[in-house]
Amino acid sequence: MVNKINTRCDLMLFGALGDLAQRKLFPALYQLERANLLAEGSRVLAIARSDADTETVRQQLFDKLKQYVKPEEFDAGLAESFLKRVDYQILDFNEPDAFGVLNEWRDDANNELIVYMATPPSMYGVIARNLRAASCCTEKTRVVVEKPIGHDLESSKVINDELGEVYNENQLFRIDHYLGKETVQNLIALRFANNLFASQWDQNHISHVEITVAESVGIEGRWGYFDKAGQIRDMIQNHLLQLLCLIAMDPPSDLSADSIRDEKVKVLKALKRITPDMMDSYVVRGQYTAGTSNGRPVPGYLEEEGANKGSATETFVALKAEIDNWRWSGVPFYIRTGKRLPEKLSQIIIHFKPAPHYIFDPDQKHLANNKLIIRLQPDEGMALKILTKDQGLDKGMRLRQGPLELTFSETFVTDRIPDAYERLLWEVMKGNQYLFVRRDEVEYAWRWVDQVIRNWKDGGEPPKRYAAGTWGPVASIAMITRDGRSWY
Ligand code: NDP
Repeated sequence: MVNKINTRCDLMLFGALGDLAQRKLFPALYQLERANLLAEGSRVLAIARSDADTETVRQQLFDKLKQYVKPEEFDAGLAESFLKRVDYQILDFNEPDAFGVLNEWRDDANNELIVYMATPPSMYGVIARNLRAASCCTEKTRVVVEKPIGHDLESSKVINDELGEVYNENQLFRIDHYLGKETVQNLIALRFANNLFASQWDQNHISHVEITVAESVGIEGRWGYFDKAGQIRDMIQNHLLQLLCLIAMDPPSDLSADSIRDEKVKVLKALKRITPDMMDSYVVRGQYTAGTSNGRPVPGYLEEEGANKGSATETFVALKAEIDNWRWSGVPFYIRTGKRLPEKLSQIIIHFKPAPHYIFDPDQKHLANNKLIIRLQPDEGMALKILTKDQGLDKGMRLRQGPLELTFSETFVTDRIPDAYERLLWEVMKGNQYLFVRRDEVEYAWRWVDQVIRNWKDGGEPPKRYAAGTWGPVASIAMITRDGRSWY
């Protein structure tokens, strides 16, 4: 049973008319209202520089809620009463003198204050300093910032230093929205609430792990933004390494933010460096060419609108990560992520080692390892592939592999699965940092990713091509086949 928090909360949302705010944050706040979780008197100040008044912005937000909230969950009356909590403030973030007006909006300085920076990261330091100069925040203010925290270790340190000048680490909530997904949190429940798995979770029992985050879409009109980042910065440095950490970390002593984050950092620190001589066998980078998506022809990355024809930015990465510690020695984590792949799919597969002594049909030995499949999307759920005897008089002791299946939407039919941003905003309101990324996590992740990017630069090789609608360059299949394995 979730209870609303009783403390009134003032949320200042910088960048309130941007894509993220309109598509994700306001719908998430609406859902918190719908779930009756917002304390009475809690308010939102939408801040942006467009010339508009509160009534116009409320109308615009109403239209966006109608667009982005599922029709069966949209209630016009509720949306209107939710939007009464919202005021609009025109503000140029670069104008320190203008920030004083924010204090006037706060009718009680004792209310909890949350500052959400849904702005370009280059604005984080500016906003933080201007808020301090205008005495808008205290040591209790919670500050939420979006990814990306920099484009490499050095630039992430600059952003973190700028934020650190004004706020303590325990005030900072760095978003990685994957951590807000119910199924990702379920990794913690699966591993640490089920002793069945806890006792099998190491190199004695697991042969390898696969993590796939596949997108069927291409660049979606964001060519300029994406081309500066590439798939490794956009997906691996944050989301995929977070998944890897949740799978690989040692059991935390409790569910507190720092217990969990301490364990994740240990994993990041133990990631084996990928040196230049390892690149050919450990990393594949690709870029899509024209092909098909959902049966329709689609252009290649270099033919997308706004493309620079000479770009060597990767839209696909496959790599083999190794963790140099006692638990995971000799267990590769194969990771792949890309755009314009055949389907939208996020899943983790734990491949268990076969039984020590095999007594069945030698032709079926390839079936002999159990697999735990954790589907993050679509159809969130889990399947444990186990071996049973094939039924029938003529089958002898032939084996077959079948799933013990748990599909959340079928088993827990009455539960609504909240969007990641609902969960994350709710946790910020409660002041709980366990689903947010600590500074050292960001920086260790960059350190590991930076050396791969540096190797690419030094090597000078262009990304390998793959046709849109396929599973990436054939080299990614070769990478895993060389180890006697295959992508599931
Ligand atoms: P947008 O560019 O759509 O929105 C940015 C907002 O900031 C706009 O409202 C813009 O106002 C405002 N802004 C920028 N500079 C100033 C300024 N000097 N003064 C006043 N307002 C300013 O970005 P997104 O919403 O897409 O992204 C916001 C953040 O979230 C970024 O850090 C992004 O990386 C991150 N993010 C976004 C995701 C998404 O799906 N969109 C996903 C994950 C992370 P104006 O409209 O007037 O320019």
